[in-house]
Amino acid sequence: MALLELRPNCECCDRDLPPQSREAFMCSYECTFCSDCVTNVLHGRCPNCHGELVRRPVRPEAGPAGGLAKHPASTKRKLKAGGCAKPALRCPPLNGRGVLRRRSLRDHAPSRVSSPPGR
Ligand SMILES: [Zn+2]
Ligand SMILES: [Zn+2]
Repeated sequence: MALLELRPNCECCDRDLPPQSREAFMCSYECTFCSDCVTNVLHGRCPNCHGELVRRPVRPEAGPAGGLAKHPASTKRKLKAGGCAKPALRCPPLNGRGVLRRRSLRDHAPSRVSSPPGR
């Protein structure tokens, strides 16, 4: 049975990510990151393979498949050399989200139409 390698730490900031953590994200190659790095630094993309990062499913302690008791999480810490710089991608930076939302309704309302007196 192929198993996900549940790595014990964030590859960027070395934060502990125990197997029960819901803060852990991983890509299809099992590169593992914390939610802070995924959100603020990586923007959902793995810096190693450029694949999608999704929340790592929690492996139960036990259960029909054995759970962590039978298939414990990895203990090999992996850390990216130099941490995670922002990946050099061409996507435009998201600065100040929602700033453009504020548009006054008045811009749409017709300015007071003073109908010229007809004859
Ligand atoms: Zn991190
Ligand atoms: Zn990856």
